[in-house]
Amino acid sequence: MHQHSVAELSRLLAQGETSAEALCEHYLARIQEHDSALNSFIRVEAEHAKQAARESDKRRATGKALSPLDGIPMAHKDLFCTKNIPTTAASKMLESFVPSYSATIVEHLERAGAVMLGKLSMDEFAMGSSNERSYFGAVKNPWNHEHIPGGSSGGSAAAVAARLVPYATGSDTGGSIRQPAAFCGVTGIKPTYGTLSRYGMIAFASSLDQPGPLAASAEDLALILNQMSGFDPKDSTASRQTHTVFDGELDRPLQGLTIGLPKAYFADLDPTMSERIHAVAKQYEALGATLKDITLEYNDVAIATYYLIASAEASSNLSRYDGVRYGYRCDSPKDLLDLYQRSRGEGFGDEVKRRIMIGTHALSAGYYDAYYEQARRARRAILDDFNAAFNEVDVILGPTTPTPAFKLGDKTDDPVQMFLGDLYTVSVNLAGLPAISHPAGFINGLPVGAQLIGAHFSEPRLLSIAHQYQQVNNDHRKLPEAHQ
Ligand code: GLN
Repeated sequence: MHQHSVAELSRLLAQGETSAEALCEHYLARIQEHDSALNSFIRVEAEHAKQAARESDKRRATGKALSPLDGIPMAHKDLFCTKNIPTTAASKMLESFVPSYSATIVEHLERAGAVMLGKLSMDEFAMGSSNERSYFGAVKNPWNHEHIPGGSSGGSAAAVAARLVPYATGSDTGGSIRQPAAFCGVTGIKPTYGTLSRYGMIAFASSLDQPGPLAASAEDLALILNQMSGFDPKDSTASRQTHTVFDGELDRPLQGLTIGLPKAYFADLDPTMSERIHAVAKQYEALGATLKDITLEYNDVAIATYYLIASAEASSNLSRYDGVRYGYRCDSPKDLLDLYQRSRGEGFGDEVKRRIMIGTHALSAGYYDAYYEQARRARRAILDDFNAAFNEVDVILGPTTPTPAFKLGDKTDDPVQMFLGDLYTVSVNLAGLPAISHPAGFINGLPVGAQLIGAHFSEPRLLSIAHQYQQVNNDHRKLPEAHQ
């Protein structure tokens, strides 16, 4: 059953060949059997899920299915508020936080009949690239349990890769959907900034944060986005320009498509990785696309720019956790300052503290112009760079990450090495562009991903390009040996 994509499960449900309840039981049993090895779930909501599944079957029996996703199991990254269900952002700070409302995308998926099985692990407050920064322990890569699954949506990617859920939600501030999708061999999309509502998603860096789905295939992502999207007046940066139909172009052939290959992405790339991405490019060529070398001049400043802006915004966003209003509060504070200091000191993990300190320093009087202003200018140059490229080509192709997933513990003592792994993903967030990562084969038994970056609001086209690839390549259908 779990070999099926979301699209196939939807057809089986429509034809009466399975039921929401049977699917729910099947996936709950898989979680039970496989998640002790992976640790992808922070919390399983079995009763909630069974109830939702029964209601879905009742609706379907009277011909009233809510959407193609009605009755299909899924899980949310624990960054999205779920009404009356704990939402932790994988932090001690929010260990006992129970939201009184749901995030808009959670509501949208509920309205579509999604059956939520639980909440998925992540790096604390979505800060990290390896999922080793979760307060609830590291998540393992389903393809090799000694390796990291990527982050920060590592729980989402691992759960989908091991087919503990057919799809999951994630968030992407600097690569957190695409990088774990690549490391775990699944497909993930970061939509154009403003496409999906950020309301009820715990904030990290508000000008970069964007929710999105992870699933086996691009076709699945399109079906999920159809339901997750929709203008939200509660998100002040929601766009009215976004699509509501994402699967409209799936069958469009690739003839006439021009794909740009940025020289900067391949210059220092590991040869085995370069070979994988060039093999993907050749496949696109065989499908009718034209390849063209392009330049992206400012890629080398992207990491510094991103870590400055993201940390500056994080230091501001996370000032709300003061031990007074909600979240962790230290025991018997001496006075107000002691309450602030110990609540934050004890409630946040090391990586979160690092970001708050970088951000606060960058924004402090006397340093603002040298750091934050400079980073804003670099951000603008990166956007101009991309816009110039999109005058020449339709989409940009490159690796999602410089290497396959590294070993647990390999980079925990070296934050700069960890940051450098985000080389190909962060510029996309700085420019607000959409990008998809799809499986691109294996290196030493570990999956790697190819990234397609498009112009603003080009999601239907990006999804169709990846879908065409997945018609002639089966990597996205492969399951890890240990989780067949
Ligand atoms: N790895 C990046 C970081 O640590 C991206 C995180 C994200 O996209 N949420 O900031």
